[in-house]
Amino acid sequence: MSTTDEDTAAQLLTQLHQYLHTRPVTGPAGHSYISSEPRATAVHPPAPIDLTVIDHIDATVRELADYTRQANPSAEPLPERVEAVYAWCVENTQNAPEDVQQRRDTLIYRQKLEHALAAGDHNLVRKAVRPIRCPACNTFGLFWKPEVGKAVCTNGRCLTKDGLSHRWSLARIATAHVEAQQKISRVRAT
Ligand SMILES: [Zn+2]
Repeated sequence: MSTTDEDTAAQLLTQLHQYLHTRPVTGPAGHSYISSEPRATAVHPPAPIDLTVIDHIDATVRELADYTRQANPSAEPLPERVEAVYAWCVENTQNAPEDVQQRRDTLIYRQKLEHALAAGDHNLVRKAVRPIRCPACNTFGLFWKPEVGKAVCTNGRCLTKDGLSHRWSLARIATAHVEAQQKISRVRAT
């Protein structure tokens, strides 16, 4: 994996986290993952988007922590600061078997795309989808459809048995991306 994915994921997550601090919510009271900095007092009633962002950050950190502890039961404690969770995850799984590290890279790549969507940035996802070959027909021509939250294959001959275009989730896109990266690095190594 290029360190860029990890760095970008951390950066996007940090931005979301900072967004929460600049637009704090009054509830729910127990946001479980927040740094030790004091919270500003909420002036405006909480907007629904804030709750979505809180859930998103919580789910992100939980998934990373679950993965890391499963891969390495003696992993160090989760860092206090949300921006450090990716580095923590990579550091504590760098000696894991190759397939376990590949799962990590896929997870981080998918989360990077999810952070972009959580921030309303569909461009990053569009750009990420374009160089991926469709897992069904192996050609280029996937495009991101924000309204369904999936990448759709534009090859007119690549259809499901119901006659519909193939649609791929971010998880499938991330898997295809990491597999393609691995092929490239194998070719370079030989
Ligand atoms: Zn296709």
